[in-house]
Amino acid sequence: MTRAVVVGSGPNGLAAALVLADAGMSVEVVEATDTLGGGTRSAELTLPGLVHDVCAAIHPLAIATRFSQAFDLAEHGLSWVEPEVQYSHPLDAGRGAAAYRSVEETARQLGGRDGRTWARVFGSLTDRFDTIADEFLQPVLHVPRHPAHLGRFSLYAGQPASLLARRWRDDEARALLAGLAAHAFRPLGSLASSAIGVALGTAAHRYGWGAAVGGSAAISTAMVAAAKQRGVLFETGRTVTGLDELGPADVVMLDTAPGAAADIVGDRLPRHVARAYRRYRHGPGAFKVDFAVEGGVPWSHEPSRRAGTVHVGGTFEEVAAAEASVARGQMPERPFVLAAQQYVADPTRSVGDVHPFYTYAHVPAGYTGDATEAIVAQVERFAPGFRDRIRATAVCSTTEMSRKNANYVGGDIVSGANDPLQLVFRPRVTLHPYATGVDGVLLCSAATPPGAGAHGMSGYWAARAALRSVARG
Ligand SMILES: Cc1cc2nc3c(=O)[nH]c(=O)nc-3n(C[C@H](O)[C@H](O)[C@H](O)COP(=O)(O)OP(=O)(O)OC[C@H]3O[C@@H](n4cnc5c(N)ncnc54)[C@H](O)[C@@H]3O)c2cc1C
Repeated sequence: MTRAVVVGSGPNGLAAALVLADAGMSVEVVEATDTLGGGTRSAELTLPGLVHDVCAAIHPLAIATRFSQAFDLAEHGLSWVEPEVQYSHPLDAGRGAAAYRSVEETARQLGGRDGRTWARVFGSLTDRFDTIADEFLQPVLHVPRHPAHLGRFSLYAGQPASLLARRWRDDEARALLAGLAAHAFRPLGSLASSAIGVALGTAAHRYGWGAAVGGSAAISTAMVAAAKQRGVLFETGRTVTGLDELGPADVVMLDTAPGAAADIVGDRLPRHVARAYRRYRHGPGAFKVDFAVEGGVPWSHEPSRRAGTVHVGGTFEEVAAAEASVARGQMPERPFVLAAQQYVADPTRSVGDVHPFYTYAHVPAGYTGDATEAIVAQVERFAPGFRDRIRATAVCSTTEMSRKNANYVGGDIVSGANDPLQLVFRPRVTLHPYATGVDGVLLCSAATPPGAGAHGMSGYWAARAALRSVARG
C-alpha cells in the first residue's frame, strides 16, 4: 500500500490527508502541537464556557468548494450559521454601513447613487460567483472554464482598492469597501489590492459570512472524523525537523511555511527551490485580543450590534493610512481592527449575557509592542462604554502567534504577502506550485494556491498533484 505522511494538521493538511486516504493510501498525520486543526481551533480563552476561535473565525469561502462537495462534513457534525448582518463598518457619530446577504438590501441601505453602484458591481459578480470562486480557488495559471466570468471579476479585482473606491461618493460605501480590501493586509493603493476584498464581498452576498456552529474547531473535528473513518492515523506533540524522521514514505505533504519546508527537506531540495522558499515574502502581523464582554459590544451604529464581522478603522482614508503604515513597518496609532461576534448567530458560544468578542489588529511583521490598548481604543471610539463591559481578556502577540503555530511567521496569519506576484505565483515562480523538486514531497499549506483561508483548497489541489505523480510512477 502506498504510504503517505502529512506534516501539520491545519485545514490544508487535513484536506490533503482526506484526499489521499480516499484514494486508498495509508496516511499518517504528524502535528507539532497537542491539538489538531492548526488555524481551525477553538478554546475557552477567557472565561469558562465562552467559546473563542483561536485563529480563523468566519468562513465565507469554505462553504461551497470542490473540497466541501467531495467530502460531506455535515455527516461529521459540521454546520454553519450566518448572522443577519454579514459585516459592518461603523463610522463616527453612530454612522456606518452594513452588508446583508441580499445585494438589493445592501444597496437600499446605502441608498442613492452609491447603492446603485454597489448593486451593479457586486450584483453582477454574485450571480456568477459559483464559477468565479471555482476559478480563483485553484492555481491562477490554468485554462479557465468560464473566461468571461473570470474576466468580469478581474476587471474589479485587478484594481488598487483606492481606484475602485472612486466609484462611490459617500464615506459609508467607501468604508465598506475599505474593510473588505483590508483583509489582504496590503496598502490600499497597491495593484490588485481589491482582489481579496472583491472576492470576500461577493461571497457575503452569495454564500454569507458563516461561522461554524460551536466554533471553528468544528471544521477540523469533522475533517479528523472523516479522515479517521478512512483509516488515517494521527500523532500530536511531534515537530518534524527532517524527512528522515518520517520513515519510508511514498508521499510527504508539508503543511508548513516554505522556510520550514526548506529546513525539513534540507540538502535534498534543489538549490533554486531552497532559495525561493527562503526568500518567500511574509506579510504583516496580527495582534489578537479576545474579550469576554458583558452585554455585548455597545456599537453606536445599530446594525453593527447584529453583525458577525465588524471592520473597525473609520473612513476609507483612515484605513488606507493604517494599512500603509503597517506595510512600512510602523505601528499606526489607530490600527485597522477586525472584530468578530460569532455569538450573534450562535448563542452556544456565550454564557448568559457574557459573550466572546474576537479582535485582531493589523500590525507590522514581528511587532514586539502591545497593541491591546490601541484595539480597545478603536472599539471604544465606535462603541462608547465598551471598556466598562470587559470582564476578561486573552492576548496573543505576533511572537505568541508564531510560537503557537510555526506557519504564522512574524504573526503573518495569511501565510505570505498578497503582493501581485505572490497572488499569482506562490510559493515560487513555477507552473507546479505544490512540487518541491523532490519526488513525492509536496508543499500543501496556505503558502500555495489558492492561499489563506480555512477552506482546505491548497491541501486538496496539492494532494491531487501527489496522486498524479504517484500514478506516473
Ligand atoms: C488569528 C487568525 C485569524 C484568522 N482568521 C481567518 C478567518 O476568519 N477566516 C479564514 O478563512 N481564515 C482565517 N485565518 C487563516 C486560516 O486560519 C489559515 O489560512 C489556515 O488555517 C491555513 O491552513 P493551513 O493548513 O495551511 O495551515 P495552519 O492552519 O496554520 O496549520 C498548520 C499546522 O501545521 C503544524 N506544523 C507546522 N510546522 C510543523 C512541523 N514542522 N511539524 C509538525 N507540525 C507542524 C502547525 O502546528 C499547524 O497545526 C486566520 C488565521 C489566524 C491565525
